[in-house]
Amino acid sequence: MAPIASCPSPNFDSRRCPVSLLILHYTNMPSAEQALARLCDPASKVSAHYLIDRQGQITQMVDEGARAWHAGVAHWAGLDDVNSASIGIELDHVGHVDGHMAAYPPLQMAALVDLSRDIISRHPIAPAGVLGHSDVAPMRKIDPGEALDWRQLAAQGVGLWADNVPVENVDTLTLNTEGPAVAALQKTLAAYGYGVVQDGVYGPQTQAVVRAFQRHFRAQKIDGAADGQTQSLIYALCRLAVS
Ligand SMILES: [Zn+2]
Repeated sequence: MAPIASCPSPNFDSRRCPVSLLILHYTNMPSAEQALARLCDPASKVSAHYLIDRQGQITQMVDEGARAWHAGVAHWAGLDDVNSASIGIELDHVGHVDGHMAAYPPLQMAALVDLSRDIISRHPIAPAGVLGHSDVAPMRKIDPGEALDWRQLAAQGVGLWADNVPVENVDTLTLNTEGPAVAALQKTLAAYGYGVVQDGVYGPQTQAVVRAFQRHFRAQKIDGAADGQTQSLIYALCRLAVS
């Protein structure tokens, strides 16, 4: 792995539980320099363990043993203190512009793979525990965005992916749908880890969770409606995660 630069941030405290997640973000800022200045500014009260710039340079801000402040109010697999349970990586990226985003450059992706593999080798992080900020905070966040090539990451040993999943012929579930199919979907999303209320009603929270799922696993269409392909992917990934 390429040498890692250092830019210590004061924005951390002590972990309250073991590491089980790797959370990816984008900075949503014009440059890595500006992002580092913010992530190391005591007034911002935000940080991450690492930042990777567009040329693939990795900078460490917080020791992996400490709790960086990157997830905010977030939930995953029954955990409410996602910062304590995770290592956070910020990807230097301007973010969505008019609803669209640029691809992550190959050098940045290569550095992300190297760093993530290194982190996973040192912590008990399961493939399903490699997540985007939007997965753990679906009502608030859309980073690292659908332009992140999660499929390529998984092919290189980082995260979970399901390929060639047969699409079941089922009704699309969408806002205000109610009933057993919604309840079953919510149960499966929750079993996978998403923070979703299991009430059998396809409300705004379920819609946001499905949108986050699509942003990660079905980037071609992110509409928050659980069509047949989306439902088939949710069930397939849940099976993969527990196997
Ligand atoms: Zn984020």
